[in-house]
Amino acid sequence: MDKLTVNDIDLKGKRILVRVDYNVPLDHGGSESKVVDDARIKATLPTLDRLMDQGARIILSAHLGRPGGRPNPKLSLRPVAAKLADLLARPVAFVDDCLGEKVEKTVELLQPGDVMLLENVRFYPGEETNDADFAARLGALAEDWVNDAFGAAHRAHASTRGVAEVISRKGGRCVAGLLVERELNFLVKKLEKPESPFLVILGGAKVSDKIGVIDRLLDKADVLLIGGAMAYTFKLALGLGVGKSLVESDRVKTARQIMEKAQQRGIRFLLPSDHTVAAPTLVAPPDGKGKSVIKFDNPRYNRGADIPDDYEGVDIGLETVACYTKEIESARTVVWNGPMGIFEDARFAGGTVAVAEAVARATAQGTLSIVGGGDSVRALNEAGLGEQVSFMSTGGGASLELLEGKTLPGIEILDSLPAQAEAAG
Ligand code: AMP
Repeated sequence: MDKLTVNDIDLKGKRILVRVDYNVPLDHGGSESKVVDDARIKATLPTLDRLMDQGARIILSAHLGRPGGRPNPKLSLRPVAAKLADLLARPVAFVDDCLGEKVEKTVELLQPGDVMLLENVRFYPGEETNDADFAARLGALAEDWVNDAFGAAHRAHASTRGVAEVISRKGGRCVAGLLVERELNFLVKKLEKPESPFLVILGGAKVSDKIGVIDRLLDKADVLLIGGAMAYTFKLALGLGVGKSLVESDRVKTARQIMEKAQQRGIRFLLPSDHTVAAPTLVAPPDGKGKSVIKFDNPRYNRGADIPDDYEGVDIGLETVACYTKEIESARTVVWNGPMGIFEDARFAGGTVAVAEAVARATAQGTLSIVGGGDSVRALNEAGLGEQVSFMSTGGGASLELLEGKTLPGIEILDSLPAQAEAAG
């Protein structure tokens, strides 16, 4: 599984196509659009520094938003090029296309150490369909390919997969960037033989999104702590009252099977024993993405595992926090994915923040802590604890798929370390 990285190949003077994850939020308010959060751009700097130091000619490709295969000025990467130039303190060439004559001419002019950013690859329909011709044209720009876009590595698109096949076929190298290397190190290697007690904390909205992860981690974990709306589907399976809580009734059978499996394997599977509850009123029905707007009134503490009929469980309660905190602090390896409640509403963020603090305290005592992407990372950062865990993944879907043990299309295609080197190292 060990993949070659930018540290393993000769980069001098070579044209290197680097897939990065620059899918960042933009503010279109002023006269020029601006990058609101540059964390994803900063995350690629170690790889870019390495490539520049080695005198590579660097061609960056990325996507932004969902333009649906058509150019859309609001989703142009031009503001990202400006931000990157600021961060690198050197010019970044930008052409308003990712293919064609203008791009080819700019590539020809690149000197060792120069950087250019291509326009949003999703302005072409061939990106998401992994069209062979589109991939071939992208691949013609460079000799080697680097994947540093962990957040997009679970997609088999032209710029994350097809282009690598093209470059491999013509004898080029396909290697991991340093960000992708770090993700693989924590999410795969360090979890091959995790130090015991190995504790997994899962929360968030749906059991269905995380069944694969639960199933896989039931082979290795000693303790599972469940929070968020996920917990209510398990409670329903146990015949407990869930009131108006978010549940997936069609997953009750799966929930029961998971609990049976945990019991057979002697894994402690903990559900919240108390809650914060609130009375929900639907303000707007689900939109195209299935998101509804709900107003919550009368938030209150609810002792016991049953939720009253007119209430919805919105956070874990104090007794649960005390129990989960104790478990976290006695673990040696912790994996956390998903918030414990509707943490976007400050009234219901307490359980998630308490878990974040416990994970940070455990880390300070030497526990290895790995936090999966998306909302748990956001919660950690909001609590100012981002620097106090061993590792925060930059990928949401991609990190879940790796934890499930799946091979990601953009990783699988990378050149592997020769077998002898792997055995020796
Ligand atoms: P996920 O993307 O599956 O990790 O889910 C994250 C979402 O789960 C967040 O937007 C939370 O607001 C939501 N969530 C967490 N706990 C609850 C709950 N008890 N009821 C409804 N939504 C929840």
